[in-house]
Amino acid sequence: MTARILSALILLLSSPVARPLIERQPKPAPLAMTLDVDATDAPMKILHATMTMPAPAGAVALFYPKWIPGEHMPSGPIANLTGLHVFADSAEIPWRRDLVEMNAFRLTVPAGAKTLTAKYDYVVPYVGGAFGSLPSTNAKIAVINWYTVGLYPMGTSPAAISVTSSLKAPAGWKHGGSLDIASVDGTTIRYAPTSLEMLNDHPVLLGEHFRSITLWPAGSPVGEHVIDVVADSEWALQFPQSRIDIYKQIVLEERAVFGNVGHYRKYHWLLTLSDNLGAFGVEHHECADDRVAESTFVDDDSAKRSSLLLPHEFFHSWNGKARRPAGLVTGGYEQPMQDDLLWVYEGLTMYYGELLAARAGLISKEEWLDEVAADAMGVSAPGRTWRPLQDAADSAPFLYTAGGGWSGVRRQVSGLPSFYAEGTLIWLEADVTIRRLTNGRKSLDDFCALFFGQNDNGTVWVKPYDADEVYRTLNSVVAADWRKFFTDRLQSKTASIPLGGIEGGGYTFVYATASNMFTDPWALDGSVNAYGSLGIHVGADGTVDDAWPGRPAFAAGLGNGMKIVAVNGRRFSSDVLLRALEASKTSTTPMEFIVDNASYFTTVRIDYHGGLRYPHLERTPGNEDLLGAIASRRVTTGR
Ligand SMILES: [Zn+2]
Repeated sequence: MTARILSALILLLSSPVARPLIERQPKPAPLAMTLDVDATDAPMKILHATMTMPAPAGAVALFYPKWIPGEHMPSGPIANLTGLHVFADSAEIPWRRDLVEMNAFRLTVPAGAKTLTAKYDYVVPYVGGAFGSLPSTNAKIAVINWYTVGLYPMGTSPAAISVTSSLKAPAGWKHGGSLDIASVDGTTIRYAPTSLEMLNDHPVLLGEHFRSITLWPAGSPVGEHVIDVVADSEWALQFPQSRIDIYKQIVLEERAVFGNVGHYRKYHWLLTLSDNLGAFGVEHHECADDRVAESTFVDDDSAKRSSLLLPHEFFHSWNGKARRPAGLVTGGYEQPMQDDLLWVYEGLTMYYGELLAARAGLISKEEWLDEVAADAMGVSAPGRTWRPLQDAADSAPFLYTAGGGWSGVRRQVSGLPSFYAEGTLIWLEADVTIRRLTNGRKSLDDFCALFFGQNDNGTVWVKPYDADEVYRTLNSVVAADWRKFFTDRLQSKTASIPLGGIEGGGYTFVYATASNMFTDPWALDGSVNAYGSLGIHVGADGTVDDAWPGRPAFAAGLGNGMKIVAVNGRRFSSDVLLRALEASKTSTTPMEFIVDNASYFTTVRIDYHGGLRYPHLERTPGNEDLLGAIASRRVTTGR
């Protein structure tokens, strides 16, 4: 074999290929299993599951999913798998957990057994956890993520296992989701067989208070797009038609970015409106598990604060699910994921999630500018001088869940690793750069259409990519040294933040006294964001949950985990702190804090006189308003 043929073969083998996830003409899977989930005790916070499969001969291990797609870490909530009993036909057989791979249960199937059955429970936590392992059921709602109840034979690709599943809901509860339904029998929903990979990619909503809103029906030019909503109350479901109309526009604006090509057969947002089931989103090919506060869709302020969420998760159907970094295409839940390209997967999605909310009218252009300014403040945290942005991505498996203060030093912004917020700034700069180099003829949308909007419209597939393909595709939009553009920003360890997009777009990053609702988009809990002034974030009870070294508070001795008891002699409240900050501008004496540091009381004096300071963008006189052009609606028909 010549070197030329060999290199051609290597190129052929290494060039990414789209792997279909849902076949147009399904082939029989090598392994067929059934999974029956009884959710009737969801209000008691426990799910009961039965998994049945043909009995393999001899030694086998049953595996509980560990590395969870979309969560970017080994977050499968193994501690909540309880009540496990395994049977060969009707005889119970013993199991033992693997001492190294602790998500695996090893057992030996007696010769001649026909069926292996595992019965077990998923106990639902009422606090704690991350993403899918957060609280997921309450008195009125259950969000069923199949992987939380999903044992399967270890070593078998989830793509090669066909699962016939059923779900029994509490009496009177309704259901939503994009999983294909075979039949409904009373409160039991039987789903059409699909691969284990696709089953886990299709969570289901159950709830007493339920509404299904068809934004665009099947057969419409853009296909079926639905918001399925469960809520803690009927009140929370009574949101206005105007909000629904804006989400119809979101679909059009979002698809326009990809040249109106989607990689799903239908798309459902699974929206949970509850104050006790977390606030987050996890993406899937044909749906997203989106959870926000109960009032979010009836209250305008709350709706704006969460406006990026649904467009963000929808964007992931293309960026993250269909096109996926090679290190995240592992072939199963047993293999570690490599998160080095999350600055594309999450960073680009963060930029567009915020931007598309503005393009569709969920927020105004000015509110979008505030959101970008809040991102810029977040990434100015001191951790950027030791941890390059690339390492924030590489460290994602532990960075999402790191807590106990010090988030600014670790480079977390609003609880997320900084490649989200800094992704907004960097991809904005890429967008501005393309627009400037092409005199406005092209934009980052052209990159998205090329990179994500490839053929196979309306089918579900995954196709891995690497950084080189990102740079090559950008280069085909407009020639530039894109590798250097990104590696400079990914490897930087300077205090200065990447403002090229903001400044090139005609704006200046400033601090001003007017508040910015996006500095704490998720929080309506009375916490105080004083990063711009004192360099601290303070919980509603006065606890300093983050303090930035080098800023006034930390320099004066007010640090992580300390509790502010009083400000200028008055008992702490959020308002007392905010008024004291406001008064600092005209005061000649230091601000005085009485602080409880693990039962020891001290007085901390901060000689700060800068007043309230929140991030904003101001128009730079004489420069073109390119950010205004970027935020403009693209789709003017169809609504
Ligand atoms: Zn995301």
